[in-house]
Amino acid sequence: MADMWVGVNGADEALRQVNAEMLGGARALADQAAAQVVAIVWGASAAGHAKALASWGADRVVIVESEAAPAPEAVARTLARLAAESAPAVVLLADGAESRVAAPLLAEALDAPLFSDVVDIEAGDEVFFTRLPYTAKVIERATAAAPTVVATVRPKALPVPEVDASRTAEVIAAPADAADLARIVQSVARAASERVDLAEADIVVAGGRGCKGPEGFAVIESLADALGAAVGASRPAVDEGWIDIQYQVGQTGKTVAPSLYIACGISGSIQHMAGMGASKCVVAINKDPEAEIFAGADYGIVADLFEAVPLLGAAVRERK
Ligand SMILES: Cc1cc2nc3c(=O)[nH]c(=O)nc-3n(C[C@H](O)[C@H](O)[C@H](O)COP(=O)(O)OP(=O)(O)OC[C@H]3O[C@@H](n4cnc5c(N)ncnc54)[C@H](O)[C@@H]3O)c2cc1C
Repeated sequence: MADMWVGVNGADEALRQVNAEMLGGARALADQAAAQVVAIVWGASAAGHAKALASWGADRVVIVESEAAPAPEAVARTLARLAAESAPAVVLLADGAESRVAAPLLAEALDAPLFSDVVDIEAGDEVFFTRLPYTAKVIERATAAAPTVVATVRPKALPVPEVDASRTAEVIAAPADAADLARIVQSVARAASERVDLAEADIVVAGGRGCKGPEGFAVIESLADALGAAVGASRPAVDEGWIDIQYQVGQTGKTVAPSLYIACGISGSIQHMAGMGASKCVVAINKDPEAEIFAGADYGIVADLFEAVPLLGAAVRERK
C-alpha cells in the first residue's frame, strides 16, 4: 500500500500541535493499510524536528533543505516533485494560510482530489474524510477513488497521539531544487505577542462590538492574561480596527476548538459561531438577555461586560 504523508512546516523551533494530530491520523491509516508514515518537513528548523516527528508516529522523515522559508507555492512544487517519485496514498497538511495556497496547487499538480478543513479521518478499506461545510450546518463524509488524496486538517480536530520517545525514523535529506527557490519568503512578520496561538489555545477570551473600542479589548486581554488564554474577536471589532485581523474568529476568520470559550459582547451570529462552535464549554457575557449567543452557551451571564469581565479576572487572580 502507498505511504501516508504529512507535510510539516518546521520554520519555528517548536512544532505546532496540529502536526502531532496529523501524524496520529496518518499512523492510524498506515496501520490499517500496512503502509508507512512519511513526514516531509521544511523551514529553518526542519532538521531539528525529526525526533519529535518520529515520536508521534513517522517512520520516515524527509527534510527539505532550503536556506530560507519556502513560499507556499514552492512547498506545493516540492511536495508534488517528491510525490511524483513515490505516489503517496494521502498527503495531509495543516489547515491555515500556507495550506490554503499550497494544497490546491499540490492537488492540481498531482491531479488529485482535495478535501479541505477536515475534522475527522476514518481508516478502513476506503478512507473517509469528514468536513463541516456551510458554516457547519452539514456534516459531509466523503471518500475518493484516486491514487493520491490531498487533505488539509483543522487544528484540534483529530486526537493528539501518545508520544513514544523510543520510536526512531529514517531521516532523508531532499534538497529543494532551483525552481523551488525561485520565490522564497525572506521572513515571516508576526505581530509580537507573548500570547498563546489562537488556533490551538485551550482557553479563548473573545470580544465583540460590545467592547465599544480598543479600550474594551484591554478588559478582554486582562482576563485572558489571568487565565493564560488567547484573545479572540468578532469581525466588527476587527473591521473597526480595534484589534488585528489575526484574532478574528468565525467563517472568514480562524476556527478554534478550545476547552473554554468566553464570548464577551458578542451577539452570536451564525458566521461567528462557525468559528467557535466546536468549543467544549461556552460562557457568554452579554447585557441583552435575548442575545442569540445564549442559545449556544453552556453558561450565560447577563451583565455589562465592563463590570463582569474585571470581576471574573479578579476572581481568577485571587484563586491563583
Ligand atoms: C460573509 C460574511 C462573513 C462573516 N464572517 C464573520 C466572521 O468570521 N466572524 C464574525 O464574528 N463575524 C462575521 N461576520 C459578521 C456577522 O454576520 C456579524 O455581523 C458579527 O459576528 C457580529 O459581531 P458582534 O457579535 O461582535 O456584534 P453585534 O452583532 O453588534 O453584537 C454585539 C453584542 O454586544 C452586546 N453588548 C453591547 N454592549 C455590551 C456591554 N457593555 N456588555 C455586554 N454586552 C454588550 C449586544 O447586546 C450585542 O449582543 C460575517 C458576515 C458575513 C456576511
